[in-house]
Amino acid sequence: MGLIIRSSAIHAAGCYTTSRIRKGTQIVEYTGPRISKEEADEKYADSPTTYLFGVGDGSTVIDGHGTAMFINHSCNPNCETEEINGQVWIMAIRDVAPGEELTYDYYLYDGDEDEAACNCGAPNCRRSMYSPEEIRRRARAARKATRATQTRMPHGRRSSGGNRRTR
Ligand SMILES: [Zn+2]
Repeated sequence: MGLIIRSSAIHAAGCYTTSRIRKGTQIVEYTGPRISKEEADEKYADSPTTYLFGVGDGSTVIDGHGTAMFINHSCNPNCETEEINGQVWIMAIRDVAPGEELTYDYYLYDGDEDEAACNCGAPNCRRSMYSPEEIRRRARAARKATRATQTRMPHGRRSSGGNRRTR
């Protein structure tokens, strides 16, 4: 199996296969030093780009270094990741043709202020690389922030309804 890194329409560089990959193939391991989540937060606090992959319960992350870190996100991917005996593997979830870019769904979480906008171009693109759960969590947090802002306004007009809902 040949994997090459070259520029991608999705984002910067991507990972492409030069040969056909069958569905179910264990393609490449997500390699890199393992560090604690706290270490990673500190190391990349000011970095716009990170290649971190949470393993196990997420308290340890792989600081990506190697081929797999170049694989881009897609909302309609041809691969998925699987943890096998503590190693993270990129697996083909369908047959992949030679020349195709490998992608998997990042299901991002814990992204602070980062938008993590998705431009994968898939018909089902959710416009974000966050997991659907994380998107909902962030939307709730954003609504809360809006309410807090309204509360702080000294002469804010009180509407008769709406913002008093408890849920
Ligand atoms: Zn997308």
